[in-house]
Amino acid sequence: MFFDIDKDLAEIAEAAQKKAAESFERIEKTAEFNGMKVLKAFIDNKVSESCLKGTNGYGYGDIGRETLDKVYAQAFGAEDALVRHNFINGTHTLSTALFGVLRPGDRMLSLTGKPYDTLEEVIGIRGEGHGSLKDFGVIYDECPLLESGMPDLEEISKRAAGAKVGYIQRSRGYSLRPSFNIETIEKMINAARKSSPDIIIMVDNCYGEFCEEREPTQVGADLIMGSLIKNPGGGIASTGGYICGKKELVELCADRLTCIGMGKEAGCTLSQSREMFLGFFLAPQAVEAALKTSVFACALFELLGFKTFPKSDEPRTDIIASICLENEERLTAFCEGIQSGSPVDSFCLPEAWDMPGYESKVIMAAGAFTMGASIELSADAPIREPYAVWLQGGLTYPAGKAGVLFAAQRLLNKKLIELDEKMKGMN
Ligand SMILES: *Cc1c(COP(=O)(O)O)cnc(C)c1O
Repeated sequence: MFFDIDKDLAEIAEAAQKKAAESFERIEKTAEFNGMKVLKAFIDNKVSESCLKGTNGYGYGDIGRETLDKVYAQAFGAEDALVRHNFINGTHTLSTALFGVLRPGDRMLSLTGKPYDTLEEVIGIRGEGHGSLKDFGVIYDECPLLESGMPDLEEISKRAAGAKVGYIQRSRGYSLRPSFNIETIEKMINAARKSSPDIIIMVDNCYGEFCEEREPTQVGADLIMGSLIKNPGGGIASTGGYICGKKELVELCADRLTCIGMGKEAGCTLSQSREMFLGFFLAPQAVEAALKTSVFACALFELLGFKTFPKSDEPRTDIIASICLENEERLTAFCEGIQSGSPVDSFCLPEAWDMPGYESKVIMAAGAFTMGASIELSADAPIREPYAVWLQGGLTYPAGKAGVLFAAQRLLNKKLIELDEKMKGMN
């Protein structure tokens, strides 16, 4: 071994990896399917060397930009796509899509309870509200989730009547609710369409891309949106976002991103094209590595006696895992361990700080090639009950596994966990 890992801990880790074998097999099958799906989209759309070059200035007739849109659209089973480095992050992409589609007097209904924190200001349910959807006269409503964390299909049918947009968030974000798989998303869409056949379904697909064989656009979603420094950028794209779905809706979003009359037809790609193509090509594999890392982490920490969401053997629909570590000392040690096992900035020590927009202190570990990229191994935790850490990413499984081992070793060094012979034998 290359690293100083306690012998008993290493044995428990091997037991955890054995326990994960079935899940790994499932993940590999999905990655193989998605890898071929993406390759076919490259071939069918004739990706060429000139697509990788990039343009400057107005960027009219940029063949790389136009081809990348087609590749995304085909891979995600959509009519059209808008894939741009000009989206500064996931929130900007989601905001562009919402402002692109909604008009004054329209009602937006969230089908999955409270949306991701950063969208609250976009919608206008938190903050000053200047220029928010609410400020422009868009009415916001939400269907709370059931006690179990699952969507309330009856309530969705009831409230969807008259709504212009039904909004779904696939991933758990920073809550302990389950992430919604494609099957559940399809049920929500059908429930909404029962009372509102023309409702436009928009899905925040962040962290979900390539976790299953299908995307929400293949079960009736009209638009899906996500960030390129998460799954579909494959760890290679430096920045950006995508919107995929119905042609006329994608066009509305393009008009909002650029301006009316220009839409998708302008916007140079600078030197971003090669990274965006290569990243998308590698994305199914990056997601495979991240999913395996997540399953291994859950399996190991289950053996160590902790509760994880999801459980190690539950099928995944996003790359996130949260582990309840029960106190602040363990949260801190875990994040320090992840940081110390990162390829970049391994020698840094993360500290909890008062991050803008959060009520409690937050500690984050991220030793990544791209700042804030969470397809790379990263961990973050708000310092509050239930003292859970959110873990995501891992560009390769060996590095992901090592990072998780570093985290467990750090807990052991600080005497925050105890190992037990029984942990090795458990199956
Ligand atoms: C990451 C994420 C977003 C967008 O976050 P950014 O940090 O702006 O990229 C939105 N929704 C969910 C569920 C996310 O995971």
